[in-house]
Amino acid sequence: MEKSNANYKLRFKKLLEKQKVDIEKQLAAFTKKDTNLKGDYDTQFPDFGTPQNSDELAQEVSLYENRLPVEFTLESKLQEIGTALEKIEKGKYGVCEKCGKAIDPKRLETKPEAKYCVKCKTKTS
Ligand SMILES: [Zn+2]
Repeated sequence: MEKSNANYKLRFKKLLEKQKVDIEKQLAAFTKKDTNLKGDYDTQFPDFGTPQNSDELAQEVSLYENRLPVEFTLESKLQEIGTALEKIEKGKYGVCEKCGKAIDPKRLETKPEAKYCVKCKTKTS
């Protein structure tokens, strides 16, 4: 029993770590890691050189504005993954934060960073 539990944890740990690497790669493409704040990324203003005209400047601004929500989404997912990894270390992984019941492993397969079971998730959203 203990052995299968360890395998289960290892499996999700690998899944989460893979996702973490993927997200960090995506973030690295257009952000700079904030060295003062752990886990925070700053979207870089696109650097196409000095804008030659107002069109170029507008393009840079809109690109920057498009990146911000992407940064936010990736950053919060990264935080959820970090929390899930901590839970694995503490042996609290796979337990719903609301009702304390085990989260369906099928749900964890598709969303390994899930904090709540399907029931609680449906209630909150
Ligand atoms: Zn629950």
